[in-house]
Amino acid sequence: MTTPQEVLKMIQDQNIQMIDLKFIDMPGIWQHLTVYQDQIDESSFTEGVPFDGSSIRGWKAINESDMAMVLDPDTAWIDPFMKEPTLSIICSIKEPRTGEWYNRCPRVIARKALDYLVSTGIGDTAFFGPEAEFFIFDDVRFDQNENSGYYYVDSVEGRWNSGKDEGPNLAYKPGYKQGYFPVPPTDTSQDIRSEMLLTMAKCGVPIEKHHHEVATGGQCELGFRFGKIIEAADWLMTYKYVIKNVGRKYGKTVTFMPKPVFQDNGSGMHTHQSIWKDGKPLFAGNQYAGMSEMGLYYIGGILKHAPALLAFTNPSTNSYKRLVPGYEAPVNLAYSQGNRSASVRIPLSGDNPKAKRLEFRCPDATCNPYLAFAAMLCAGLDGIKNKIHPGEPLDKNIYDLSPEELAKVPSTPGSLELALEALEKDHKFLTESGVFTEDFIENWISYKLDNEVNPLRLRPHPYEFSLYYDV
Ligand code: GLU
Ligand code: MG
Ligand code: MG
Repeated sequence: MTTPQEVLKMIQDQNIQMIDLKFIDMPGIWQHLTVYQDQIDESSFTEGVPFDGSSIRGWKAINESDMAMVLDPDTAWIDPFMKEPTLSIICSIKEPRTGEWYNRCPRVIARKALDYLVSTGIGDTAFFGPEAEFFIFDDVRFDQNENSGYYYVDSVEGRWNSGKDEGPNLAYKPGYKQGYFPVPPTDTSQDIRSEMLLTMAKCGVPIEKHHHEVATGGQCELGFRFGKIIEAADWLMTYKYVIKNVGRKYGKTVTFMPKPVFQDNGSGMHTHQSIWKDGKPLFAGNQYAGMSEMGLYYIGGILKHAPALLAFTNPSTNSYKRLVPGYEAPVNLAYSQGNRSASVRIPLSGDNPKAKRLEFRCPDATCNPYLAFAAMLCAGLDGIKNKIHPGEPLDKNIYDLSPEELAKVPSTPGSLELALEALEKDHKFLTESGVFTEDFIENWISYKLDNEVNPLRLRPHPYEFSLYYDV
């Protein structure tokens, strides 16, 4: 725990002039405002720094735009990408008129989810460990006429199917789906990944590892330690920020889009989770795969609410191009010990009860992590409170099941539109505790329909030209 006084002292001692205040908007992108150091004092950590919130996506109308960013002293680090020494601090949003936390601020919602967990008496800590995969590309070209939507990506590894002439074949290229994980020279992103990981450490993220991923177009993953709900979401935002900015330094672009390349593995954000109380893990026990009954009920809640949950954990139209058979992404709503084709996996944890957790494999990194973690926690708690048993585990490879067997297993929604419809019908598990407000759910659904689902539906798709142009 860092105190406001310690942060202010650090600013003095290190003669830092620029303070960069970062906060998360509703869709999940960091926004920032930089202030001179004399604009910050102790009240900035309680009442906040005023700003105009009128043009922030999904937030206030212009006639009620006064807002305040409240600095979290635990999140201060020197921003490695800014030339002038700049202290970065993550903020939550308050309404200055009433002094109340803003109920559309995702970080506030994650805090309410934690408060709800404590109020149930079930636990006092929720741990999350997200594993966000991404692609490093040399470039991405959009046709500037956004109505045509044509684009292609240049790969760091010179993919053979990126749709353009790539010049000479320089060999040492990973074979199709063989990116996981030969040493250099086949792996050409070693140095950039190391720099990404070490830069994250400078920003206070407890780093663990990095590696190439299965897809051959420069797909990678970096690993950091699991954390408490808000810190894990803060770390994920820092992860994306550092990865994109180190990429930029190398003249590359990075994308967390779930399915940027047709017919190759997509990028997920498997999310490990567990609940603790009084320093003790609650998911270890003597039930299936060493889980406790409570852990199984948590899984029951996740699986029951999954179609609605995906509106937060997989909130882009592109998310559903990843959730298809054949690419290690989950398609069916089932759980299993080792089976990576199930939506929920219980990883081996040896005899260590502290490592007992579940891995929800559906999410991807287009989610807003504060909202996704809060929603998953609410679903799991609903499972625990209502003793929702997840049924029998599915230990066969789901991709090998017969059509009759498969018909019994519910599947993930096929589109964002269907996930939003499921959320419209099933959101009491999010709102009855007060974690999410009705206003937030309605706003989320209409934002996603108006800005993503419908604009995409209205545009002719490039593939339609190949299907229909000559008809
Ligand atoms: N890329 C896969 C996905 O879309 C996961 C591969 C892995 O198990 O790490 O979920
Ligand atoms: Mg992975
Ligand atoms: Mg995983």
